Amino acid sequence: MAGLCLALALSPTGRPVTLLERDAAPPDESADQAFFDWNRRGVGHLRHSHAFLARLRNLIKANHPVLLAQLLDAGAREIGFADMLPDGLKAEYRPEPGDADMAVLTSRRTTLEWVMRAYVETLPNVEIVSSALVRGLIVERPEPDQLRVAGVTGDLVGAPHEWRADVVIDAGGKTSQAIEMLIEAGAQVSEETEGCGILYYTRHYRLLPGLDEPPRTAPGTGDLGFIKYGLFPGDNRCFSITLAVPEIEMELRQSVVRPETFDRICAMFPGIAPWTDPARSEPISKVFGMGDLNSRWRSLAPPDQRAVQGFFAVGDSLIRTNPLYGRGCSFAAIEAHILARVLEDAADPSTRARLYDARVKAELTPYFDDMRSQDRAAIRRASNARDPAYKAPVRTRVLTSFVNDGVRIAVRSDIGLMRAALRDFHMIEPPGAWLKRPGAMAKVLGVWARGKRRNADLYPPSPGPGRREMMQTLGLGAEAAAG
Ligand SMILES: Cc1cc2nc3c(=O)[nH]c(=O)nc-3n(C[C@H](O)[C@H](O)[C@H](O)COP(=O)(O)OP(=O)(O)OC[C@H]3O[C@@H](n4cnc5c(N)ncnc54)[C@H](O)[C@@H]3O)c2cc1C
Repeated sequence: MAGLCLALALSPTGRPVTLLERDAAPPDESADQAFFDWNRRGVGHLRHSHAFLARLRNLIKANHPVLLAQLLDAGAREIGFADMLPDGLKAEYRPEPGDADMAVLTSRRTTLEWVMRAYVETLPNVEIVSSALVRGLIVERPEPDQLRVAGVTGDLVGAPHEWRADVVIDAGGKTSQAIEMLIEAGAQVSEETEGCGILYYTRHYRLLPGLDEPPRTAPGTGDLGFIKYGLFPGDNRCFSITLAVPEIEMELRQSVVRPETFDRICAMFPGIAPWTDPARSEPISKVFGMGDLNSRWRSLAPPDQRAVQGFFAVGDSLIRTNPLYGRGCSFAAIEAHILARVLEDAADPSTRARLYDARVKAELTPYFDDMRSQDRAAIRRASNARDPAYKAPVRTRVLTSFVNDGVRIAVRSDIGLMRAALRDFHMIEPPGAWLKRPGAMAKVLGVWARGKRRNADLYPPSPGPGRREMMQTLGLGAEAAAG
């Protein structure tokens, strides 16, 4: 994804770009063939649910409108602002400028990548080299304490090969070893890593012939503390469900990967059950699981250190985020655009390294920090959910009530607040900025002060059962033993 986003960002600058990809080229017939047959050892999460936030979708629309059209032609879906409104707000909705730019682009990731790759291959100054496995960096030392990357070494269709370039960009994803190789060569790199606290489980389904998607009577996403879920409408009558299970829920983690358990859990969520009902759809995949999910921020130009010249990283090799927020591809695209601009703005390799580092920090740190603090809160909540005797301290209860009974309910009752909150969700404005505006906070406090009883009509339907009930239904844990 980061490599493709780089090609999209760099191609208008006229620079020749060579993308080296370890995996073989995709099958060229159909989105279904890409889903079922494209062997991607390089991307373990290829068959997990993916959606592009508006920030990324808008970058594509502004710079490569033909690509957006091709994605939609292939079956990718746009879920717009009006589609995301709760029923109570739909009736009073009048479109405003900017609403059209708040759309999520969603489909099977294989389809997104298959179409993007085919489009990138048509760009005049871009070449994609498949079956090109990078194994090493060509590192030079123009001065004793200065490193410069002048290219990469590896295998091309199994035979040793060397590629030289004035700029080498690591877009090798979360398992890329390029930065480790630089550290071994003596580069100074700073890194912060923190566990996301969850595991991801995804299963894909297809609507049965002649049947439509069910009406949306309950939200397709939910957070029950001990489990989170999301529905991702896909291309070509497909959709996927993702369940996120806290790491500490050992029994649930082990069971959810069984297809029958996965489907039983889905049947307990009102916003998902009508979709996975065997009378409506059929599974088209196993349950894909993924762990080792971390937030990681790396800086290749730490203060007071000499930055490596001629080398940049974009995408997960530079910054990893919790997939739950759906921001990884947007991060990669934003970094790619920042880098394209930096290469235009400066010619000196050290200046380029510092500029890139500083601009990425300025743009993305607020989102990164916000996600990490949400993760920490979710990890605490998941731990508390396992203790039936747990009683939150007063401060936590007040804060939780402010979020659940104030912010969330105010957003569901006021289209202006909904607009502002979704701009935040889509990374169109910095996290939390909307809530700091005096008018917004006054509205939230007003709704909160009205109290649960008078706001009763504004609450969404229950997202699903409590932990005890679910564990008993599934026959898991002490809850099941206790009966
Ligand atoms: C479960 C899950 C769900 C996610 N859902 C979303 C979502 O809904 N929305 C969103 O925006 N983000 C999502 N993300 C994050 C997003 O997938 C990543 O941020 C994104 O894929 C990063 O792109 P990348 O190019 O850095 O890495 P990757 O997409 O992993 O790509 C790395 C590429 O480098 C190639 N490669 C690796 N090593 C070599 C080598 N040595 N030589 C040559 N080629 C090599 C690989 O084959 C691959 O093509 C999700 C992540 C996970 C784990």
